[in-house]
Amino acid sequence: MKTKPKFETLAIKSTENQMSNIESVSTPIYLSSTYKRNSDGTYNNDLIYSRNENPNRKIIEYSIAQLERGKHSFAFSSGMAAVSAIFQSLKTGDHIILPDDIYFTIKKLLREVFEQWNLTYDLVDMCDLKAVESTIKPNTSLIWVESPSNPQLKISDIKAISEIAHKKNIVCAVDNTWATPVLQNPLELGADMVIHSTTKYFGGHSDVLGGCVVLNDDKLAEKFKSIQVLSGAVPSPFDCWLIARGIQTLHLRVSKQAENALKLAQYLESHPKIKKVLYPGLVSHPQHLLAKKQFNNGFGAMLSILIKATEKETFNISTKLKYFATATSLGGVESLVEHRKSVEGMDSLTPENLIRISVGIENIDDLIQDWKLVLQ
Ligand SMILES: *Cc1c(COP(=O)(O)O)cnc(C)c1O
Repeated sequence: MKTKPKFETLAIKSTENQMSNIESVSTPIYLSSTYKRNSDGTYNNDLIYSRNENPNRKIIEYSIAQLERGKHSFAFSSGMAAVSAIFQSLKTGDHIILPDDIYFTIKKLLREVFEQWNLTYDLVDMCDLKAVESTIKPNTSLIWVESPSNPQLKISDIKAISEIAHKKNIVCAVDNTWATPVLQNPLELGADMVIHSTTKYFGGHSDVLGGCVVLNDDKLAEKFKSIQVLSGAVPSPFDCWLIARGIQTLHLRVSKQAENALKLAQYLESHPKIKKVLYPGLVSHPQHLLAKKQFNNGFGAMLSILIKATEKETFNISTKLKYFATATSLGGVESLVEHRKSVEGMDSLTPENLIRISVGIENIDDLIQDWKLVLQ
């Protein structure tokens, strides 16, 4: 009987070199901007020019599509370039429904760039399915889901929201950056599109920017191919190579990071100076049961905490840890903390006493001890 390879196997197999007639085990970085044409006018391996396609990009697109259980995948030079491609695929006058605590740069992109193209949006609490349904307008063409959300760690019911969207012929896109395909496959839950900032867990080492869109629909895929190649926000071969390398250890890292995050969340929840821990793996999380159903193995490696402290004290705490660097971003092997409100700026709805934590692969006892000392 033929069985389908499991995630860890796919992650290795899907990133192997497919092109070279030199049988190297590790894939070279193809630093060529252009490719030779044959005398009959054809090209080998569909390789013409590196913006259109390059071997390293082919590998990560193939691999990410496999891992997300999707048919087509398009790599971009950053997560925001992938998000922009989705907005570029809409028509002027279209309406979008966004989660009220969506990754704040996406809201900014719509306001500062796409609003002049007459794309409008409404923010809604995605945990409230009735509210999602009643926000739909005749011109709504996209419902955006981010689960877990940033930085409140809200969990949205991807299957239910996809069904609501499909009843009205609306596309449901899921930003799966925080969950990764190790923990969650939105396409299998009914979503039409998955977006990743591959800067985060795919890269995994805080040394590369990237983004990706995965989808199944062939017609939509043609449109995305045009947007990708003609708009030109494509990743370099070296960026793709780094992401392919990251993919090979994605499963190990995310599993370990999620295991550490649960233990840290449990510790912090028991601490008298902590008012609240937002982590879907805790029984106290309002959507814990949904999270249990929707996640595959573990609840992710991101958490936010509310400290019994003023904004200034909270900020100071975020700079005093030894093993958590104070920096934005997430998903790398090293732990990071961030006072989120002061990063998001004036119109941020994030509580002033919130610290967002990206848990790395360090030893959990050291990580807990670090917080113990700082919270004394
Ligand atoms: C980081 C991030 C993005 C943007 O990705 P970049 O690679 O920084 O452009 C989008 N969505 C989420 C959830 C993110 O964490």
